[in-house]
Amino acid sequence: MDVDSLWTSILGEIELETSRASFASFFHGTRIARLENNLVEISCPNQASAIMLGSRFRPLLLSLLKTRLGKEPLFRFVVEPKKISPDKAGPLFASSQADFEKAFQKTGLNPNYTLENFAVSESNQMAHAAAQAVAKTPGKAYNPLFLWGSVGVGKTHLMQALGREALLKTPHLKLIYCTGEEFTNGIIEAIRNRSTAEFKKAYRTAKFLLVDDIQFIAGRESVQMEFFHTFNSIVQAGGQVVLTSDKPPKEIDKLEARLRSRFEGGLTIDISPQNFELRTAILLIKASARGINLPIETAKLLAASFEDVRALEGAFLRFLTEKGKGEDDDRAVARVVSQNSLLLQQKKLAQPERVLEIFASHFSLSPQVFLGDRRKREIVRPRQLLMYVLRQEMGLSYQEIGLFLGGRDHTTVLHGVEKITSLLPKNPTLRDDLSVLRRVLWG
Ligand code: ADP
Ligand code: MG
Repeated sequence: MDVDSLWTSILGEIELETSRASFASFFHGTRIARLENNLVEISCPNQASAIMLGSRFRPLLLSLLKTRLGKEPLFRFVVEPKKISPDKAGPLFASSQADFEKAFQKTGLNPNYTLENFAVSESNQMAHAAAQAVAKTPGKAYNPLFLWGSVGVGKTHLMQALGREALLKTPHLKLIYCTGEEFTNGIIEAIRNRSTAEFKKAYRTAKFLLVDDIQFIAGRESVQMEFFHTFNSIVQAGGQVVLTSDKPPKEIDKLEARLRSRFEGGLTIDISPQNFELRTAILLIKASARGINLPIETAKLLAASFEDVRALEGAFLRFLTEKGKGEDDDRAVARVVSQNSLLLQQKKLAQPERVLEIFASHFSLSPQVFLGDRRKREIVRPRQLLMYVLRQEMGLSYQEIGLFLGGRDHTTVLHGVEKITSLLPKNPTLRDDLSVLRRVLWG
C-alpha cells in the first residue's frame, strides 16, 4: 500500500469516530510525509494542529497504524510551513513575498498572531472556520464577521491572523486594523483638527476593515455615526468587515439600533473560554515559538493551575525565570503555583484604595488624578502602572479595574497593562518605580 492510500484509509476510519467539524479542523492538510520501517512521519500544516493531533489522537493513530503495518509504529508529527500563494511560485514569488512584508508592516498586525499558531478546539472551532472562509473570499462569505467572547479567549489573535491570511493572498489589499478605541480617538482628533475628510476617506475606502473591541464606540454619537457610514461604504463596495467584542451586539449597552442591526446582519459567533486541553496546546505553542521545548507533562501542570490564558502566559514566564535559577521543571512549577496562591492571598488583604494612595504619594499626584481623564504622559504612565499592579499583582479583573479607576472601559485597562508589559524590559525608570512600589506594597 502506498503512503497516500494508507493515510486515506486511516482518515476514513477516524472520520467515523469523530464529529465532522472536528475531523475537518484537525486533519485538514495532513499527510504521511515519510514511512520507513516502523517510523511514520505525519506532516501537519501547522504547529497547532500537530499539537492537537498529538494530544488527542495519539492512541487512536497508534492502533490504526499498528493494524495496517503489522507492527508497533514509531511516529512523530512534522510541520511543513505554509508558503505564500503556491500558485505564484516562480519569478513572481519573491516580489509578492516582499510586497506582503511591506504591506504587513504597515498594518501594525502582530506577526506572532498567525493561523498556524492558533490552536483549535470545540470552543473556537466555528470562529476558526469562519475566519478561514472570510480570509479566503473576503466580502463574500459573511459580512460582517462578528466574533465575541470574554477576555483572553483569542479574539484579537484570530482576527489578526485572519487579516494576515487575507494579506498573504492579496498583498495589495487595502486592509486596516484598529481597535475601537483607536477609531474613536481618531475621529475625535479629526473633528478637533478639522481633518475629518481625510479620516473618512482613509476608512471608507478600505477593502478589509478589522476593528477589535468594537464595543468601545458605543455611547458616542459622532463616532457611531461615522462608523455606520464607514461600514456601509465598505460593504457596498464589496469589501469585508470583521469585528470583535466582549458581548454579542444585542447586549452592547448604548449601541445605536441601526449599528446593532448591521452587526447582526452577518455572522455572529461566540468563542468560549479555553478548556484544559486547549490551554495546554496554547502553552506548548507559546513555548515552541520561543524555541523552548516544554515537556507536555509540565505544560499540563501549568495549564491545570491557571484557567485564564493570560495568567497562564505570565506563569510560564515566571516558570522560565525559576528554571533560569537552576530549578528543575517540577520544582519550578511548584514555585510558580505557590507564588500564585500567595498573590491571591495578597489580593484578599490589600485594598485597591490603599494601593491608589501609595501610588499617589509615590508620584506626588493627587489620587483624583488617577481616576480622571487627563492625558499627559506624566499622568498616563503612572495610571497605566497602577492598572498593571492591580491586574498582575492583585489579580483584579480588567472590568474591576476600569470601574475602580473612574469607570474606564476594560479594554483601556487592557491596553494600559499591555503597554507597561512592553515598556518594562526597555525602561529602567519604570522598573525602578515598580520595584519601589512593590516594596512599599508587599513589604
Ligand atoms: P482576546 O482578544 O479574546 O482578549 P487574545 O487574542 O489577546 O484574547 O489572546 C490572549 C492570549 O492567548 C494571546 O497571547 C493569544 O495568542 C493566546 N491565545 C488565545 N487563544 C489561543 C488559541 N486558540 N491558540 C493560540 N493562542 C491563543
Ligand atoms: Mg482582544
